[in-house]
Amino acid sequence: MESFESEQAPLPRNMIENSMFEEEPDVVDLAKESPSYPIDSDDVVYEPRSSRLLVRGLGENDLDEEEEDYESSARLLGMSFMNRSSSQRSAASYTRQQPSNSCSMPSAKKTLMGILVLVVVALVAVIIYFVPRCTFSKDGCQKANSSIEQLYPKASNGELFPWTGLRLPASVRPVHYEISLQPNLTSMTFQGSVAISIVVLQETNKIVLHSYNMKIINGTFQDEKVNILEYKPWQQIAIKLSKELKKGENYVLKIHYSANLSNSYDGFYNSSYIDTNGKRRVLAATQFEPLAARKAFPCFDEPAFKASFVIKITREAEYISLSNMPKATTANLSNGLFEDEFESSVNMSTYLVAFVVANFSSVSKNVSNTLVSVYAVPDKKDQIHYALDTAAKLLEFYNGFFEIEYPLRKLDLVGIPDFLAGAMENWGLITFRETTLLIGDHSSPIDKQLVTSVIAHELAHQWFGNLVTMRWWNDLWLNEGFATYMQYMSTEEVFPELDIDNEFLSVRFKALAKDALNSSHPVSADVSTPEQVEEMFDSVSYEKGASILLMLSATLSKEAFRKGVIEYLRTYKGCNTQSEDLWTSLSQVTNPHTDVAEMMDKWTVQKGFPLVTVTKTESQVKLTQEHFVLNADNATDRSNLWHIPLTYVNDTCSNSSSCKQVFLFKNKTATFKVSDKVRWLKFNCRSDGFYIVDYGEQGWRALIEALKENVNVLPREDRAALINNLFALSRLGRVSFRQVLNLLVYLKNETETAPLTEALTQLNHIFRLLDKRSDLLLVSRMTTYIFMVFGDLMDSQSWGEESSVSKQALRSALLETACNLGRPNCTDQAKRLFDQWMTSNKTEHIPGDLLKVVLSVAAQTKEDWQVLLDTYKHSIYDSEKRKTLEALASTQDVRKIVWILKAGLDGSEIQTPELPLVISTVCRHSAGYLHAWDFVKENWDKLTQKFLIGSFPLQSIIMSTTSQFSTKTHLDEVERFFGSLKDRGSQMRSIQEAIETIKLNMRWMDRNLATLWKWL
Ligand SMILES: [Zn+2]
Repeated sequence: MESFESEQAPLPRNMIENSMFEEEPDVVDLAKESPSYPIDSDDVVYEPRSSRLLVRGLGENDLDEEEEDYESSARLLGMSFMNRSSSQRSAASYTRQQPSNSCSMPSAKKTLMGILVLVVVALVAVIIYFVPRCTFSKDGCQKANSSIEQLYPKASNGELFPWTGLRLPASVRPVHYEISLQPNLTSMTFQGSVAISIVVLQETNKIVLHSYNMKIINGTFQDEKVNILEYKPWQQIAIKLSKELKKGENYVLKIHYSANLSNSYDGFYNSSYIDTNGKRRVLAATQFEPLAARKAFPCFDEPAFKASFVIKITREAEYISLSNMPKATTANLSNGLFEDEFESSVNMSTYLVAFVVANFSSVSKNVSNTLVSVYAVPDKKDQIHYALDTAAKLLEFYNGFFEIEYPLRKLDLVGIPDFLAGAMENWGLITFRETTLLIGDHSSPIDKQLVTSVIAHELAHQWFGNLVTMRWWNDLWLNEGFATYMQYMSTEEVFPELDIDNEFLSVRFKALAKDALNSSHPVSADVSTPEQVEEMFDSVSYEKGASILLMLSATLSKEAFRKGVIEYLRTYKGCNTQSEDLWTSLSQVTNPHTDVAEMMDKWTVQKGFPLVTVTKTESQVKLTQEHFVLNADNATDRSNLWHIPLTYVNDTCSNSSSCKQVFLFKNKTATFKVSDKVRWLKFNCRSDGFYIVDYGEQGWRALIEALKENVNVLPREDRAALINNLFALSRLGRVSFRQVLNLLVYLKNETETAPLTEALTQLNHIFRLLDKRSDLLLVSRMTTYIFMVFGDLMDSQSWGEESSVSKQALRSALLETACNLGRPNCTDQAKRLFDQWMTSNKTEHIPGDLLKVVLSVAAQTKEDWQVLLDTYKHSIYDSEKRKTLEALASTQDVRKIVWILKAGLDGSEIQTPELPLVISTVCRHSAGYLHAWDFVKENWDKLTQKFLIGSFPLQSIIMSTTSQFSTKTHLDEVERFFGSLKDRGSQMRSIQEAIETIKLNMRWMDRNLATLWKWL
């Protein structure tokens, strides 16, 4: 899934040393699939603790607590995908293969290991035999007379619900689903039936699966009526059987149910839009990731429970229906309706199932063996051609890059009005926000950059995520980090004119800023509750995940990295994996051999990143590493170490890739020698590594002097990184703000987008903090300072058409700041363009990258604000519509601010998925900041009905409305409010982040206000 940033585009969510598992992961499988143990099989939760502890019990490599937590569910899938020849890669062969449905790694060496393990397992079985009824839990054996009533919760009918875990039992697994749905787009309800074929893995007398917010009409098991119990808090249903189900046997569970089409943005939900004739049109679409397939049909809703699906949808004649697979048949029903049946799917996780019922237009073309189509509402059918060409080029690229052909015969990309995420990678049926798919005549190259990179992200998921899936949500980064990395890599390769590298650099800086907070979390983090799963869709999974993959790729070489990825996809296709599996595959292709797991584990299991401090005394260079953590309580954590693939250049050779020196920095300190002639060193070449460097006072001075002499002494990414790192060190309290201002002096000679926009972003951040303190004199001095540094550049920007994306990005950043700070040259030009636009009845074109700044200036007058509101309501160009909305929300008129917040919440005149954008835009200005905070407090319950607790939109709303506070009064208020929420969201990580950020702002003000007064 692509989360959607509220500002602009999505600028975007174990150590096992020498373990036999690391080299031979199939050991775990064999242990798991060994003859049945005399234990209560239903106590084996879908996690691998049992197999891990088996080894521990035998005195093999003991694993610490942390390692154990990161080892997730057992590999239940088998050999079929491994042994398939290339000729069997079609969707049909997938389907035929699926009943065996298991994955492991075949090799002679492993077979030998397997035999060894079978012996171990036999021994363990003997031991277990003598310890009957013992479960492999940390608590050891359950007491024989423990009270069942105390363990099991009550189902909604008062009977005991036979399961006690949030994760489903591993005693059965689904093989195939037949789902039939009859949505009614008038009553906004649907009827459904599902027949689930299951196979029994361990003897059991119960079946537990997920279901949420549906009315179960009846159920049968092997065609006999059964009583279905429901435990709502865990979104589970269960049947209890009088007889034990036999291991290896297949059974069929059927359930009939009905439900409302969801009013939120997940599950099977209703969506609507107003067409150009002013008529409201309705449609129904799905969004299941992460946990909402259970809202559309009862299912085993965990990513490792892969199965095949046959989907049938009944519809009226005026609609079409789409699903993951091509349509097989359409039947004319006697009641005038039609029933579409889709081909049986490849084996996949429930969160990837999708269907849409709508009246859409489309265009198609063939790429290799796949028919690629783009769908949108009929009014926007002129805007779908760019996406079709782009998707076709990227599909061709990925087919070649991964050396595994996309396995389905069709790939649909569908723009959904009223869609919350950026896009969703459902296999064969990718759904998008209209903004991330549609390109009209007036779209700018920056709009194309966004659409291209989102398509690149979702297409990458067809391999990373769909073909190979993380075993559990703790490793979501395997999906999202990879898709994010690939979106930038492939866009740069296939569309170099889109200048995506600047964008990726700013994404890495953003990831560093988030991960610097003490409230951050490891890339691979323990999760169990639905809220925790939602929270995984954040900057760490997406942006840090992508950043550490870039670091690895730069270390191993792009080609070695690609080979390792191919090895990984071939080994695990159709299966579920965890981080270690990726490292193992990458290690296998390195020459000389690199232990990738040893290097990368620290980056995924430890939160944060290292600060490398460089001290150069003549020819001696000393390095130290420590955890870079912005901790509001001043506690420091010096124990964590990383294996840093450190890179550096020096002044004698600094600007070509051949100058780069590399070494792996594993220890607390290291020293090395350089020539006496070396004046300065610059580490972390092109900012490919995920760490920050402090050069000490002398080192910084030497670098700043060098840049003042000649900016081109370093590549632009390095210049941007110096600015970024120095601001970060100032926040950490390592350097004074005076030193930051010293560096910025060099900007007079800077012309490149990356360093200029980085400096502007950092200064704007400080400006906003000061602005929110209503410290008018200091705000005015800061404005003067920004104009002193950037004023000439601001005034020299053109307002005409510009084809370079990089130049567009620079001028829109400069002009938005200039007009926002009231620079007359800017506001006058903006007004002129707006007037021309109005007098030409909107036919005179405003360049797309300038639209936001021009409309935002206009929105400050009462009359033009009304004109813009009318434009917003009627525009069929989504990027124009969003920029108009941002302009509307930038008003300083408090009554309008109150209105727009309310309209966004009720969804009548402003679409509710845009509410996070409205709030973040309002919060940029002092006029609306406190109103937005009051609005969040007053409407908290309504907000959490629209946006799930923990979800990315809610994270964004919390941070927008609180992150600019820097006083004790506001800190107390924020703590008091969120503390009062209790189970209505008070546990969210973003609340800790908000509180921590306010404390850090307060600390920064304490330390730097005097400097600002003195030097600005
Ligand atoms: Zn994604």
